Amino acid sequence: MEGPSVKLAAERFQPFIGRKVLGVAGDMAIGKERLEGKEVKDVFSWGKHLVFQFDTFALRIHMMLIGTYEATVEGDAFEGDYKKRSRTPTLAMTFKNGRLETYNAFVKWIEDAEAKKLYDFSVDTSSRAWDGAAALKRLRAKPERGISDALLDQDGFSGLGNIIRNEALWRFKIHPDRKVGDIPAATLRAIVKEIPVFCRKFYTWRKNFVFFDHMQIYKKETCPRCGAKVVRTVTGKAKRWSYICPKEQR
Ligand SMILES: [Zn+2]
Repeated sequence: MEGPSVKLAAERFQPFIGRKVLGVAGDMAIGKERLEGKEVKDVFSWGKHLVFQFDTFALRIHMMLIGTYEATVEGDAFEGDYKKRSRTPTLAMTFKNGRLETYNAFVKWIEDAEAKKLYDFSVDTSSRAWDGAAALKRLRAKPERGISDALLDQDGFSGLGNIIRNEALWRFKIHPDRKVGDIPAATLRAIVKEIPVFCRKFYTWRKNFVFFDHMQIYKKETCPRCGAKVVRTVTGKAKRWSYICPKEQR
């Protein structure tokens, strides 16, 4: 999932705050029973982490590459960016006012009564605290790296996922395999500047269920700028799916 979608999920789950976990299920094998009867104190996101804070500990749900969710909150149904790949949830929690099921996610405990304080929001691309200048510096520090892998590096671009990465590179006509050091400084700056803007737009599109209408290259057949047939291939060390305009992205 993309960071903006996890941020949106955290907002959708705010009605669970103050509610007790009435039941837990799923194939997560790290003692999920401790959640039973516990009251949710807070729900927040950081990058691809969705965090449920309880009294003395927190539950960190990391959406990783293909993690997603299905939920009902006070009668409304929601789901994450991707279709679930496994049939049993990683973790499911039932509340009086709804239910959350996470799939293909990585779940971990944080033994802290205020887990939020442990997070550095200056690296979260969906946070207002995101530090673009620091991110640019981090990019430039490794000029040999492919731009695709560099943007997906969660240490510098927390929450930036494959969809946003594809769209950003198409917008600036950059091939995903291009080395960071071969990209003009002004273009690198422009890409970094565009990321939080794009994250905010992405968030709004997801919120209004119109996200796919606004995609330009991701899962598209033809390039909307030049009409070329879009090439779908895996790129980078991360071997993620890339959608590329073969005429314009170099
Ligand atoms: Zn094109």
